[in-house]
Amino acid sequence: VLRVQGISKSFGDNHVLKDISFDMQKGEVVSLLGPSGCGKSTLLRCINWLEEPDAGHIRLNSERMGYAGSGAKMNDTQLSQMRSRIGMVFQHFALWPHMTVLENVMASPVHVQKRDRKEVENEARAVLKRVGLEDKMDMLPSRLSGGQKQRVGIARALAMKPEILLFDEPTSALDPMLVGEVLEVMRDLAADGATMVIVTHEMKFARQVSSRIIFMDSGHIIENRSPEDFFDHPQTDKAKTFLHSVQ
Ligand code: ATP
Ligand code: MG
Repeated sequence: VLRVQGISKSFGDNHVLKDISFDMQKGEVVSLLGPSGCGKSTLLRCINWLEEPDAGHIRLNSERMGYAGSGAKMNDTQLSQMRSRIGMVFQHFALWPHMTVLENVMASPVHVQKRDRKEVENEARAVLKRVGLEDKMDMLPSRLSGGQKQRVGIARALAMKPEILLFDEPTSALDPMLVGEVLEVMRDLAADGATMVIVTHEMKFARQVSSRIIFMDSGHIIENRSPEDFFDHPQTDKAKTFLHSVQ
């Protein structure tokens, strides 16, 4: 589904990503771990072209992100169409404050994907039900708890029927009491066969839900292994130090 090949990215003379490569199959759940500042968010942002990498390719089901068939760079319309195939869930939910929950979920399928409004509405209702918010559809986001807002964030990503979902610390901004309900939704998606990349500090969750752990340090992938191998037998000193610091 996803092929990341030789991605490099610098900000000025800060070389943040250094030749990052990995592949993901359909239905895989990869947790992307590593110390603060190692480049996890930047990598997610390169995957959906919110940041343009300096070198390397991103392929989504063999199609190259950012470049049209002719090899020319995609225009804004092409880019937002392609981006809409990748769902992104952020730490801060970035919901539209003046729109209801239902309207938030419907906005991109209607405006970016140009799909039929009535059909989108039916699907948006089903997706909101799936994340346990059927009774909040007509509310404004300001009336929701953090956990509920984040579940709207997930519903909004799902409404695009993405081929892959990227999560950047989806529970880090939440009250500890509200973390569980969001992880529960993510667990359901994983069990249902969604392809997901998750940046998280929830190590127990990462171990349970992931098919693979990718551990980054200073812009490199230094471990890419099964959760059991990674958590029980980390091979690098960096990973050992990291695991001591978070557990
Ligand atoms: P954290 O765990 O704290 O979220 P991270 O692994 O997600 O960290 P990134 O946010 O990817 O790390 O940042 C990696 C490096 O890139 C940092 O040194 C950061 O300061 C730098 N960086 C990220 N985005 C930008 C930007 N837009 N402009 C300049 N520097 C940036
Ligand atoms: Mg980050």
